[in-house]
Amino acid sequence: MNSILNADLHCHSVVSDGTLTPEELAARAAANGVELWALTDHDEVGGQERAAAAAKACGIRYVCGVEISVTFLNQTVHILGLGIDPENAALCAGLTATRGGRTARARDMAAELARVGIPGVFEGALKYVGNPELISRSHFARYLVEAGVCPDTNAVFRKYLAAGKPGYVPHRWATLGDAVAWITGAGGVAVIAHPARYKFSANEEFALFTEFKGHGGAGVEVVTGSHTSAEYLTYGAAASDYGLAASRGSDFHSPDESHTDLGSLPYLPGSLTPVWELLASRIH
Ligand code: AMP
Ligand code: MN
Ligand code: MN
Ligand code: MN
Repeated sequence: MNSILNADLHCHSVVSDGTLTPEELAARAAANGVELWALTDHDEVGGQERAAAAAKACGIRYVCGVEISVTFLNQTVHILGLGIDPENAALCAGLTATRGGRTARARDMAAELARVGIPGVFEGALKYVGNPELISRSHFARYLVEAGVCPDTNAVFRKYLAAGKPGYVPHRWATLGDAVAWITGAGGVAVIAHPARYKFSANEEFALFTEFKGHGGAGVEVVTGSHTSAEYLTYGAAASDYGLAASRGSDFHSPDESHTDLGSLPYLPGSLTPVWELLASRIH
């Protein structure tokens, strides 16, 4: 398999903060011409069996996936695990621990929002939650749109849920070393998700990439719905510089919210090593 492959190795289902089921995503991926797919729910592998079965039924190749929340230099960084064994005990224990603080954090977020005059947000957000262990800011955003507080979810994040805003509660996620170890220990390849989204200085970004490599991380997302085309070039160069394989994924969450649909991305630049070259034995 070369770089000309409609691979989509990053998206979310109702098992985390997406709005479609694994089966609906598989059908949509197939309809959009995706040839290799991974469902990568946040901190959770509960959708993997359904996704793999649905991919098989739709005739598309599948690799198991997850997107782990990590705290690195006081920012939240997302690390994708591709080609993991979703039944690996250490990975599952690590993900359970990572999910653990979400409900308390959500109650604190709701308390902060109540303080600025928006009550009942915890209960409101719960209506949108598909997995009781995985209440996320996305569910808050959907409820705040329903409640008429903001016209769309992007506006909710800008006004209320981003760092420094009234509904933002800092949270300590997994460490970078633990997340990479859980992924590689489960037979997977660790990939830095959407690197352009972080607000690191050049030195901090260097630390992220070098420490990630030092822990055994092997890939970086280059072509993703979270990057501009200029950022494809920046992080394509970073992949070459750091000796990392390149990944491609829409980060699709919802037909109503995501501007990049499953599979609707440019191909990876031919000069890069596609991450699927490292996944061969893990493709279903
Ligand atoms: P959490 O894991 O609860 O902190 O929620 C993070 C999720 O919120 C991300 O995975 C995105 O799906 C969503 N998100 C973060 N920032 C934004 C934004 N600016 N606009 C829309 N969704 C966002
Ligand atoms: Mn998300
Ligand atoms: Mn992410
Ligand atoms: Mn994601």
